[in-house]
Amino acid sequence: MRCDKCRRGAVIFQPYSGLHLCEAHFVADFEAKAKRAIRTHHWMKSNDHIAVALSGGKDSSALLWFLKNLTAQRKDITLSAITVDEGIGGYRDPSLAVRIAKSLGTGCLVASFQDEYGVTVDEIVAKKGDSCSCSYCGVLRRSLINRIAREHGVTKLALGFNLDDEAQSVLMNVLRGDANRLIRPQRHIDGMVPRIRPFMYIPEREVALYAHLHVEGFERERCPYAHNALRADVRGVLNDYTSRHPSTKYSLVRLGERFGELGGAAGGEIHACEQCGEPCGASCRSCQILQEVLSNAA
Ligand code: SF4
Repeated sequence: MRCDKCRRGAVIFQPYSGLHLCEAHFVADFEAKAKRAIRTHHWMKSNDHIAVALSGGKDSSALLWFLKNLTAQRKDITLSAITVDEGIGGYRDPSLAVRIAKSLGTGCLVASFQDEYGVTVDEIVAKKGDSCSCSYCGVLRRSLINRIAREHGVTKLALGFNLDDEAQSVLMNVLRGDANRLIRPQRHIDGMVPRIRPFMYIPEREVALYAHLHVEGFERERCPYAHNALRADVRGVLNDYTSRHPSTKYSLVRLGERFGELGGAAGGEIHACEQCGEPCGASCRSCQILQEVLSNAA
């Protein structure tokens, strides 16, 4: 197929726009969307220290590459990366993320569940079964990355979430009947480093192609526990439905944003956990998980 803009060979077809694009027009379209997201949400300002939560997978590696180039001429912006080794045998290898960051001339802080919490995801799964692997892993990783970011003066934490991730999250909240999460507005929380998601309006397959075009050696395997999450079911359903109705994921993301606006001041009291110091609501989920997991070990 030929590019609809210049007649060179196309590298991708976008079902939602009806366009075939060559590499140059695909990259230009991709980067324009990511820059528009940053502008729309006012996600970058002078003197920001932006840290990419770098897993070494396609999304976060592509994001680091994109931000590195975007900020190359910005002496007023610092870019770094944070990677966390959750302790998942045969999957998570932090040296991969470090190598990618190094190849882009970016510093990378490394932390691990074993060092910080004294337990790995593999050990949690061995004790609790693998059905709760993602909910435990996600909570502990978010808490750890936030603490590292805050302690290193990071002003924005950049996450590689793409359109598919965002749409899945909205649909998961609907399926769980979780109205509180749906209407929870984006707001400043003391102790919580603000998060930015420049790829949130870009489909996963386009992020994968962008990573493939620019980044060498990113992790291509999926986590062995990923199939257990509700997210895996939702991904399948949503991809199937979107193949017949191409704008569905955009509609879901817009719905999520609209709900967030309607939520206004909702969101409940947040305070610093007395035990770990991280921001939390009525109780600290990370501390609950650690108590549960570590006391089971006794
Ligand atoms: Fe953790 Fe689940 Fe992601 Fe694996 S898929 S890294 S267990 S959150």
